[in-house]
Amino acid sequence: MYDILIIGSGPSGLTAAIYATRAGLKTLVIAGVPWGGQLQLTTEVENFPGFPDGILGPELMNNMRKQAEKFGTEFVDAAMDPTDFSTQKGTFTVTADGKTYQGRAVLIATGADAKTIGVDGEKELTGHGISYCATCDGAFFRNKNIIVVGGGDSAMEEALFLTNFASSVTIVHRRDEFKASQIMLERAKQHPKIKILTNKQIVKVEGQGRVEGVVLKDTVSGVEEPMAIDGIFVAIGHQPNSKVFQGVTVNETGYVQAMHGTNTNIEGVFVAGDVQDDHYRQAITAAGFGAMAAIDIEKWLRK
Ligand code: NAP
Repeated sequence: MYDILIIGSGPSGLTAAIYATRAGLKTLVIAGVPWGGQLQLTTEVENFPGFPDGILGPELMNNMRKQAEKFGTEFVDAAMDPTDFSTQKGTFTVTADGKTYQGRAVLIATGADAKTIGVDGEKELTGHGISYCATCDGAFFRNKNIIVVGGGDSAMEEALFLTNFASSVTIVHRRDEFKASQIMLERAKQHPKIKILTNKQIVKVEGQGRVEGVVLKDTVSGVEEPMAIDGIFVAIGHQPNSKVFQGVTVNETGYVQAMHGTNTNIEGVFVAGDVQDDHYRQAITAAGFGAMAAIDIEKWLRK
């Protein structure tokens, strides 16, 4: 029997694990596959305090895991099976990879995943020229012409990173205003390899076994035109991973509703990180929520 079962191994889950085990609580992290959350798919992290020269996302996650293990956190590198927490009282039971685990409290820290654009050809050509992760796949697009979809910071960051490989990067954004911060937008605008197309939306991805082009629709005039392209990186935001558990209250977009700190509507089930945060969504805020959750859980268990 564990004191805490932590579901998820991004910055929130691992920070909670560090705090919990350091406080003497027997802690199991059901890490998911792949473990480590969104930072495993990131290159340079420049804004996590403590690393003045930046740190690679996967390296930061490895460090957090090592730190949690040092204090005694146990890990299962598997995904949790769908679980209804509302039918469980006193002790929580979850299964993963055919094994059963029990805990006195649960922390949901399942994070969020990349959104898809949902057009013809996207599913078929994913992994064959369509990617959701520049860090993972950028090197496959050396000297290629590519599109990045989106108008937020993620799109700017991906586009800038992809200039390390690609001959040209075209940012395709469906409006002429950007959610991206001014500094990121300016960096993208000033990069000689980056071109920005506004009021344009991909309506179809074309190619025989590989991306060869797209059909772009002008969102103002409605006119459609083909564009030859070698690859597409989709960077249009994320959706919370809240479907694997039932009984926990979520809002209209699927984010878990935290109440009174990191509690959920179910006594003994807590939440932290991007699965409950549709606003800040930063590694540092996720880590902060993880620390808060571990403190809340420790107090709740001692009661
Ligand atoms: P975001 O800010 O929500 O931006 C998503 C973008 O994708 C928007 O421009 C949106 O268009 C577009 N979009 C959404 N659905 C689309 C669709 N189906 N087809 C075409 N375009 C679509 O998401 P994000 O860029 O992932 O950023 C999330 C948060 O993380 C933000 O707070 C951001 O500041 C932060 N972040 C920070 C950094 C950094 O500081 N280094 C890096 C990455 C992310 P509309 O504008 O029309 O809605």
